[in-house]
Amino acid sequence: MIGKTFWKSIALPSILYGTNVINLTETEIEKLQRIENGVYRKILGATKSTANTALRGEIGASSMKARVMDGKLQYLNRTLNGKKEILKIIIQDIQEKEGRWWKQPAKYLEELSLGIRQIRRMNKAEIKTETRKWDTEKWKEEIESKVSLEIYRTWKKEIKEELIYDNTFASVISFRARTNTLKLNIVNRHNGGNVNCNFCENEEEDLIHFLLFCQEYRKERNEVIELQQPYEEDPKKIVGLFLFSETNIEKKKEVLNIMWKKRQNSTRR
Ligand SMILES: [Zn+2]
Repeated sequence: MIGKTFWKSIALPSILYGTNVINLTETEIEKLQRIENGVYRKILGATKSTANTALRGEIGASSMKARVMDGKLQYLNRTLNGKKEILKIIIQDIQEKEGRWWKQPAKYLEELSLGIRQIRRMNKAEIKTETRKWDTEKWKEEIESKVSLEIYRTWKKEIKEELIYDNTFASVISFRARTNTLKLNIVNRHNGGNVNCNFCENEEEDLIHFLLFCQEYRKERNEVIELQQPYEEDPKKIVGLFLFSETNIEKKKEVLNIMWKKRQNSTRR
């Protein structure tokens, strides 16, 4: 929590200081995004295979590009409505002559399908809404493209900070389960290793087997209503309810953590 607040309110503003006026190249923005992903990865205890799109989904963060975009358009809006006539003249001049500085704002306007006159008439919140909308679309497209995030995208509909994370290992396990990055044996399917459950010989150990069906965790499941067999609904839906519905979330985190510990002990036998 502290890490996240530090990054969002102290580190980032100083990193992005001045970018309303100067232009960052696409490569520079991508570089910054990679650094930011690293920070989020650390904060959430994410594995290497975790999709960046899930990181920012859980942290509740706009992309670097959306932030630069918003900053730039807000700056344009403030300047065009401000008192400094000279700045207005300069901006109009750069725009008309298609000067180098204008390239980036022009591209952003195009991506949002907005004109300079519209930006001028909008207020701060309206501009924010437009850049957010653009960013959320991009985020959704990315999530749609990840097969491993099938359950995640069914439940997680917007980029929104999740308050279920604290500095415990149970939080890390919850995050990995939600993003389907728990290191279950199914991860070995690409390297020819053992994919079966450590307890059940002929069952693949994937998220559904681990959470819903493995008999080894029968006792632990008794603590959680969602995990009571027989399941009447689609297993994916049960998993989604267990991991994403906010009801009894702390209890569910605790049970998941106990199950995971039991599983880890089994691999060391
Ligand atoms: Zn099993």
